[in-house]
Formats: sequence, C-alpha cells, structure tokens
Amino acid sequence: MTKTKAKSIIEKLSTQFTDKPALNFSTPYQLLVAVILSAQCTDERVNKVTKILFEKYGTPQSLITLSQTELESYIFSCGLYKSKAEHILSATKDILQIYDGQVPNTLADLQKLAGVGRKTANVVYSVAFKGDAIAVDTHVFRVANRIGLAKATNVLNTEKQLMQILDKKDWSRTHHYLIYLGRSFCKSQKPDCASCPINDLCSKNLKR
Ligand code: SF4
Repeated sequence: MTKTKAKSIIEKLSTQFTDKPALNFSTPYQLLVAVILSAQCTDERVNKVTKILFEKYGTPQSLITLSQTELESYIFSCGLYKSKAEHILSATKDILQIYDGQVPNTLADLQKLAGVGRKTANVVYSVAFKGDAIAVDTHVFRVANRIGLAKATNVLNTEKQLMQILDKKDWSRTHHYLIYLGRSFCKSQKPDCASCPINDLCSKNLKR
C-alpha cells in the first residue's frame, strides 16, 4: 500500500471515529491501572470496576494501602485478577519509590513497571503524555493486516510497518481508529464490509 492511500484511509476513519480511548481515567496513573486491567477484558467492564476503585483509590498513595486480597476483591470481575492485582501493586510501589509518585513518561521506564509490556507502554505514552507511538493490540493487528496497512505475522512487525507507512503525527490516533473499526465493522469472524466506512479503499472488501 502507498503512503497516500494509507493517509486517505486514516482521514476517512477520522470522520467516523474518535481519537480518544474508551477507557475512563483522570490521570496518567489511572490510565495505567485501567490499561493493565483491560487485558482480556472489555473496556466497559474495566470502566465499571475503576469507577468504584478510583473513588477511594485513584492515586498511587491511596491504592498502595490496599492488600493484594483487598485489591483483588475490587477487580476480580476483570479476569486474571490475581496477576493483575500483583502487577498493579508492584508497579504502584515502584512509581512511589523510584519515580516520586509520578508515572514515568518515557517508553523505556514505563516498560520497567510490572505488568507493562510494549503495548501498554505505547498506550500510556501516547494517550497520557501525547507521545508518538502506535500500540498494536488484537484489533489493530487484525485490521491493519487485513486492510493492507501492514503485512506482518506478529504485533512487533505490524507496529514497525505502521510506523513506516504512517506519518508520525498519525500514529497515536490511528491506534484508536483501528480499534473502533475492528470493534464495529471489521470484526474477526464476520466483517461488515457492506456498511464499512472505508470499503471503497479496502482491498479485502468482501462485497466486491
Ligand atoms: S471493507 Fe471489510 S475487510 Fe475492509 S476494513 Fe471494512 S470491514 Fe474490514
């Protein structure tokens, strides 16, 4: 695919979808916790959980007062709650002890926190700190490769190829557009090509 066509796709998507995440948060720390909780969980479920959790424990200083068991009781409905609670508490401890209570604002430091892999670091870096990064989750991976923005067999190469074909300033918003496109039209099993806003630009348009 050419850069020009990629640009056309992004501009078309920008007329349909927001460039904001579906997760609710007020601070970089809350975003970090929400993204950790979102692994294999819907954003709707995470928002329900964090609405209650953040009422009392929305800062690293307050959340660290929870025991592992207490935190698990708040987040169990998100699934994988034992490891998520462990990661959140460990990351929170490091944020307080190493980073003076602030979520670090570099990709390298973010990835040193427990439970923070490349994807989570990219989300926090781009959303909370307005950094240029494109996080590749399951939707971004599937959709980017399906429509031809990338031609890769793993998330890392997909991310690299997207960074090549897209303008740097478009990396962050493209992450959100591809997620929303993947959730609403370009679904894993039955893509709704007939209603898809980029069906005139997509080579995989199944209605052709
Ligand atoms: S036209 Fe079909 S395959 Fe292409 S992006 Fe839209 S839903 Fe996905």
